[in-house]
Amino acid sequence: MNQRETEGTIIKGYSGFYYVLAGGRLYTCSLRGKFRLKGDDRVFLPGDQVRICVMEGDKGVIEGVLPRRNELLRPPVANVDQVLLVFALAAPDPDFVLVDRLLVLAAHAGIQPVLVWNKADIASPERVAQVQALYRDISIAQFVLSARQGENLEGLKGLLEDRISVVAGPSGAGKSTLLNALAPGLSLKTGEVSAKIGRGRHTTRHVELIPLASGALVADTPGFSTLYLPDISPQDLPELFPEMVPHLGSCRFASCLHKTEPDCAVIEAVEAGQIHRQRYDHYLMFLNELIERERQAPKGR
Ligand code: GDP
Ligand code: ZN
Repeated sequence: MNQRETEGTIIKGYSGFYYVLAGGRLYTCSLRGKFRLKGDDRVFLPGDQVRICVMEGDKGVIEGVLPRRNELLRPPVANVDQVLLVFALAAPDPDFVLVDRLLVLAAHAGIQPVLVWNKADIASPERVAQVQALYRDISIAQFVLSARQGENLEGLKGLLEDRISVVAGPSGAGKSTLLNALAPGLSLKTGEVSAKIGRGRHTTRHVELIPLASGALVADTPGFSTLYLPDISPQDLPELFPEMVPHLGSCRFASCLHKTEPDCAVIEAVEAGQIHRQRYDHYLMFLNELIERERQAPKGR
């Protein structure tokens, strides 16, 4: 038998088999016995990089897995490069507390956030200017587009190339519409994805990475959204606000939490208009949450 080894990415696992994309071809792979011994066929996630031995045709055997860079719980995907935070500019209006919460979560998880402002076709110019002003200074990619009209998708498509991306954002923002626009032929029903979020935990549904042209892999199941900030200590919160970082060394007190302390460089930057006040207000909101939680469970959980 003609055998050769190659490397690829798991895009889906299903009843004991893994579908591995390698060199533009999809292989149906089983596991080498040594992995099966562990009795857990969830050791591998979509996104895992694996070495496979190609048997005849499109069949293969997984011989080894490369170390993971990161791992998301919801959706369960490994080696995530970026999370697309999808918000509608209108209908529904963006919830900026949620935007900032998700930005903090992404920064904490070490995953690059990308802001996708959808429904540009029905947005007021004032709203577009507002979101651009809010997030211009934190050097993350932002796209203003219309998923439904297929307008301005090119820049985002470019950013998806050769990366693994997941989609997050509130219900009704247009996540399924966006996935459909990016992967024509996928035809997710609009509304379906959001319904899945609610029930996701209890279904046996398998997350799948959708291969787009140009080597992009996008998770078909949104996730990531949680209203709960993970175990971040109050002292670590400022670093998760990129626009605060340049000021952090200049406060009078090394332990400054940038609330009411004298000679606080962050507060001065807010007053000088270098840090957007709304972002700072949300920082204070999250800080109080974290302080309150620490008070209730002082030893951490
Ligand atoms: P999801 O809950 O985030 O998956 O949102 P859906 O994709 O189901 O979209 C929610 C609603 O917004 C649907 O009625 C879509 O047709 C609509 N929608 C999605 N994208 C756009 C857009 O770019 N412009 C407008 N005007 N409506 C959109
Ligand atoms: Zn300070």
